Order: sequence, then structure tokens, then C-alpha cells
Amino acid sequence: MLVSLKDILKKANEGKYAVGLFNMLNLEMARGIIEAAEEEASPVILGVAEVHLPIIPFEYASIIMTHIARNASVPVCLHFDHGTDFDKIMAAADAGFSSVMYDGSALPYEENVRNTRRVCEAAHAKGVDVEAELGHVGTAGVDDSGDYESMYTEAEQVNKFIDATGVDALAVAIGTVHGQYRKTPHLDLNRLANIYKISKRPLVLHGGSGLSDDDFINTVKGGIRKVNICTEMCLAENRVYGEGFQSGRSFEANVVAAKDAVKEVVKNKIRLFGSSAKA
Ligand SMILES: [Zn+2]
Repeated sequence: MLVSLKDILKKANEGKYAVGLFNMLNLEMARGIIEAAEEEASPVILGVAEVHLPIIPFEYASIIMTHIARNASVPVCLHFDHGTDFDKIMAAADAGFSSVMYDGSALPYEENVRNTRRVCEAAHAKGVDVEAELGHVGTAGVDDSGDYESMYTEAEQVNKFIDATGVDALAVAIGTVHGQYRKTPHLDLNRLANIYKISKRPLVLHGGSGLSDDDFINTVKGGIRKVNICTEMCLAENRVYGEGFQSGRSFEANVVAAKDAVKEVVKNKIRLFGSSAKA
């Protein structure tokens, strides 16, 4: 069944676990994600990211995703990830998504506030929840120049940002990066503890692919209630297709193996996040 982000995160907060947001780029991913959630009896957030729309056009993605959410045996929140374009974000809200992310994290603070507030007002009027990002979670290969700390979320700004914008969930920068890590990430768990203590809204961790199991356990223990996963599923599918090509496996068998590989990644994450049997 389709549920709101607020509902899913409220329950996660009460139960002190996190719910995964898994982005889909193709049907194998969508099916692997929902099969994993159903087998684990876990709530799940199924997403598509704005940056992937050239690969999976929104009109296809939204039909697949709404069909999955309506027919799933577990609570499913449909999420539009990393929106930067107001019209695309509103298209997701109009298509029946439960939540949208506006990402103004690369902009100066005041501009991020202004744009986030505009998205919140428009999305809330349609009954759609909004996530935004304070501080900046960089991207491996793009923001590698070094100084991650200047991009970290400042605890003192958190509630100021929440009050000024009206966001329903807040992505924080505590040392993760998007994509494939080039070096071992150093997570600032003290910073997370300080933010969690005071934040009026549930906290979101981006750049989760490639963190260790302990990193996930510690960040969920530290108050993270939503974790975004994408790259790790893409790598799993890629690996399966590569192995299939090497071994001469049929394409049909590869498609099924790719779906199952995604499912394994997602199941493992669901267990680490503690959301198994919470549907
Ligand atoms: Zn992200």
C-alpha cells in the first residue's frame, strides 16, 4: 500500500530503526527492491532520482512505481530523489508520489532556504511530503578535492532551517559521499549525535553505498531514520551481467540473476537498518 514519508518515518522514529530508500533505474531493480521488502516484511521507500530521468523517463518510472506501491503487501512510500528542477518535482507530486526531495545543498544557505520553502509550500498543498538537504553530501569523483568538513551540516543551523522551510525530513552531511568511495569514509558520529538531539525532523543519510555494516548500525543507532541506497544495487547488477557474459549465460537468465542480485543487496540493507518485520 502507498503511504506517506511522514508516516513511515514517524514509525521508524518510535521503533528506533531506519527505512531504506532504494532508487530504481530499471525494472530488475524495481522488482528486486519490492521482492526484498515483501520477503523481509519491511516498509520501503521506492525512489527515482532526477539525474536518472534520461535513463528511465519519468512517465515510465511513475507508472511502474505506482503500480508496485498499490499492489505491495508492505507499506511503500514513493519518493522523487534529488530534485533540483521545480517543474520536475511538481510532476512527481502530481503523479501520486508520497514525497519529493528538493536538493539545494550546493547553493548558498539563504538560497537553499528560499527554494526549499517554495517547494514545501507547493508540495504540501498537494499533500506531498518534502525532504531537503542542509550541508552538502558530495559526489565521489566530483567533490574529491578534499575539504569535506566545510560541507558538513552545522547542528546550530538545523532547526533554523526546518522552521524557515517547513521540511518534513532532513538530509545531513556527516562524512558520506554519493557514488563509489575512493577512500574510506570517516563518519562524524559526534556531529550526528548533536544534530539528532535537537532536530525537530527525522534525519536522512545519503551516500550510503559502500559504507561498512558497522557504519550503518552506528548511524541508525545515532538517529538516522532514512538511508538512501543506489550505487550498490547498480554495481550488483553490473557484476551479474559481466559474469553472465563471461560464462555464456543466456540474456533471459541474466535478467533474473540481476533482479535477484539487487534483492540480496536490499535484503541485507533492510536487516542492517532494523526494518525487518516492521511492515
Ligand atoms: Zn543523495
